[in-house]
Amino acid sequence: MEATSADRESEDQPVMEGYETISAGALREKLAPLDRESYTAELCERFADKIARIMRLKRERRAIVLAHNYQRPEIFEVADFIGDSFELARKAREVRDADTIVFCGVHFMAETAKVFNPERSVLLPDLRAGCSLADSVTAEALADRAEELRKVYPDLKIVSYVNCTADVKALSDACCTSANAAKVVNAIDSGNILFVPDQNLANYVQTQTAKRIISWDGNCYVHHQITPEEVARARAAVPGIVVIAHPECRKDVIAMADAVLSTSAMMRYAKESPADKFLIVTECGLSDRLLLEVPEKHFYKSCKLCRYMKMITLDGVLDALENLRYAIELPDEVRAGARRALERMLELGA
Ligand code: SF4
Repeated sequence: MEATSADRESEDQPVMEGYETISAGALREKLAPLDRESYTAELCERFADKIARIMRLKRERRAIVLAHNYQRPEIFEVADFIGDSFELARKAREVRDADTIVFCGVHFMAETAKVFNPERSVLLPDLRAGCSLADSVTAEALADRAEELRKVYPDLKIVSYVNCTADVKALSDACCTSANAAKVVNAIDSGNILFVPDQNLANYVQTQTAKRIISWDGNCYVHHQITPEEVARARAAVPGIVVIAHPECRKDVIAMADAVLSTSAMMRYAKESPADKFLIVTECGLSDRLLLEVPEKHFYKSCKLCRYMKMITLDGVLDALENLRYAIELPDEVRAGARRALERMLELGA
């Protein structure tokens, strides 16, 4: 029987036996809930051929593929593990039986995989896969701001959302993800927290802690463009719809949500909830995953695509495995500093 994404996600360790191929017909049937017009027979034929070649190369290279929830649906077919950034960071830390990790996500996520796997080759199929949020803070700007703030708050601690570069992580006391941000902030030993780089997540965390949160002014361009008017329109059009929003959304959008969850928590919530109609207020890849894995329920999307996440394609994965590119490298001191902050997150936020 073919392993589903959910099966793969529930495994404790990334595995080396994920080499199943899929026929063009089976792939087309599987992707039909998304958009039968786009996933034509010819396209599925091409995808099935590439998937088979990728599976062969994965075996030859002793490679595993880690994929973020926002990836293209066809990428899920070659993934050994699919998850949100916290789960991917944890999986990257647990990799044992592989020489190469192909990371289907964005650059800062591949850096995190490298932090935990200095001796393995970590490949990002497209170096243009960056992130507007990670780009909003540099290590230099963070060091300057922290120095300034420490004059007023000598006990200041820096908590960085994992959506930042490894050198920003290296300056942080702890990292966090959207799934554990409040837990990490509440557990860290300071009442004054400089939270970088997402202002929306910082605002959300402030509603869950008595500590002083000083936010950076970055945002994810995908979530920041979603408006309360869009949510109101969906509520009016679909009576009884349950609205699930990501904490990277603006606070006026979050105020309208029935639940505020990380992407993987959204998956679990939608599967377990007795409701059958949901508005998924995050990047569209997540609604695609839900449409494929929970076909008996209805998922409406705010439909915003992350152009960075969508830069990863089957062609790119094939090229990465054939030519072993693009390898992520980090200076030792950055890797050690980022690892300390990530380990602290796993300790405080698990
Ligand atoms: S969805 Fe937003 S935070 Fe995630 S990679 Fe894209 S720009 Fe960055």
